Amino acid sequence: MGKATGFMEYKREKPTERKPIARLNDWKEYSACFSDSMLKKQGSRCMDCGTPFCHMGMEIQGSTTGCPIHNLIPEWNDLVYRGQWKEALDRLLKTNNFPEFTGRVCPAPCEGSCTLAISDPAVTIKNIERTIIDKGFANGWITPRIPKKKTGKKVAIIGSGPAGLASADQLNQAGHSVTVYERDDRAGGLLMYGIPNMKLDKEIVQRRIGLLQQEGIHFVLNTEVGKDITAEELQQQYDAVILCTGAQKQRDLSIEGRNAEGVHFAMEYLTAATKSLLDSNFNDGAFIDTKGKDVIVIGGGDTGADCVATALRQNCRSVVQFGKHPKLPAERTSDNMWPAYPNVYTLEYAYEEAEARFGSDPREYSIQTKKMVADEYGRVKELHTVEMEKVMGEDGTYFFKEVPGTEKVWPAQYVFIAIGFEGTESAFLTTQLGVETKNHLIADTNGKFKTNVEGIFAAGDARRGQSLIVWAINEGREVAKEVEEYLGLKVV
Ligand SMILES: Cc1cc2nc3c(=O)[nH]c(=O)nc-3n(C[C@H](O)[C@H](O)[C@H](O)COP(=O)(O)OP(=O)(O)OC[C@H]3O[C@@H](n4cnc5c(N)ncnc54)[C@H](O)[C@@H]3O)c2cc1C
Ligand code: SF4
Repeated sequence: MGKATGFMEYKREKPTERKPIARLNDWKEYSACFSDSMLKKQGSRCMDCGTPFCHMGMEIQGSTTGCPIHNLIPEWNDLVYRGQWKEALDRLLKTNNFPEFTGRVCPAPCEGSCTLAISDPAVTIKNIERTIIDKGFANGWITPRIPKKKTGKKVAIIGSGPAGLASADQLNQAGHSVTVYERDDRAGGLLMYGIPNMKLDKEIVQRRIGLLQQEGIHFVLNTEVGKDITAEELQQQYDAVILCTGAQKQRDLSIEGRNAEGVHFAMEYLTAATKSLLDSNFNDGAFIDTKGKDVIVIGGGDTGADCVATALRQNCRSVVQFGKHPKLPAERTSDNMWPAYPNVYTLEYAYEEAEARFGSDPREYSIQTKKMVADEYGRVKELHTVEMEKVMGEDGTYFFKEVPGTEKVWPAQYVFIAIGFEGTESAFLTTQLGVETKNHLIADTNGKFKTNVEGIFAAGDARRGQSLIVWAINEGREVAKEVEEYLGLKVV
């Protein structure tokens, strides 16, 4: 612990962000790093509290508490305070394969369980993490690590999201020959086609893919396993196969008017926007353009927020986001105490931008869409809603009830459905392989990563359901350990 009184002397500072109204003019990242001097002060706020909850990585009350990859947070905070950047980077890379992703877009469950957060604002762990890794790249400290020995064992990984990339990195460094199959034209999974560029610049993703390639990992793009190459062929060619296919099957809304033109799943909207930006800076016109239109996003989560931010950059006429739940309280309530993840109201980047453009937060709470109405050409023109209230039934369980007299009609020429994900899309793949699924997710047999089929493993969202990048990295690291063990026992 470098400075014993840092947490008393310095206040938590908000990471540097570009002004909301200015950043709506482009698709560049909205956040930036701390300066060195600021970072030193922020690092010194860490109390080195003896039993650091920030890196415990557990589920409490259904939410992630502490860092799932057990980042050595107090250690790097101290090194940053002392100006030992290279050492801080070494500590960070011990537990995290890709801090440049988590340092930008992780919701930072570590900060919610920071001991300082019991009485004061938490240490700004996430931004310190980002600054350490960005400094590492800027100073040329991150160079390809070519494995010195090869084991002769071959592993195929299906899906190039963070789970696939983390497991590929671990197994490649262990000397195995790793091939990653990806159905998209670019690697990265939701890091590439999901999370928009203003949250995570795609050059950052591409930089990491390039490094992994230089280190020896082979990427096969535009190849859907199960269709373009059969699962059987894979089993014949490789000693082990890991399914990291994600959980991108979107939940639909079965209401009147759902099939009207202009109603899309959020992922259709977000993926096309990023692809068109990367392919042609939008010159190919291959995206859904909300310019001058009224946009409604159904679903109160982060995917919905990314749709709001995208529509704002396209100069939509208006944007509203419907959420089923009531507005969160300003502070923790008695049933959501530290160290659990704080379920409190925050103004995320997209909402800050909407406020700057239109003067108000675009979120509407406790609202349910009853039907969508199309015009004479079949294009959506309005949504009919009603407010809901959460009430307790006689058996003590909560349910939502319509509030009479709160019916409302909203104009909309575009509607994006962002009400969550059901599970893995690649059902045909699991059928071909004979892999069992449970609730649309790949079932494990040992509570970990082995499936019911010899030599086939699963990790990431495909196994645990839609989650976080940091959990996907954790799964990638853990599945690699199991595969290593399996390959060690396997006679080739
Ligand atoms: C819009 C959006 C925004 C998000 N924002 C955040 C955020 O800010 N912070 C955060 O922590 N988390 C965020 N998440 C969640 C996070 O992105 C996921 O939890 C994480 O990417 C899961 O990683 P994964 O590797 O398991 O799967 P994915 O990232 O989903 O990758 C799976 C890959 O498998 C490929 N694939 C599937 N089937 C096949 C097949 N048969 N053959 C070949 N390839 C196949 C897919 O094309 C895809 O590239 C967000 C999710 C969405 C949808
Ligand atoms: S990966 Fe996420 S939870 Fe872990 S230290 Fe970084 S911001 Fe915190």
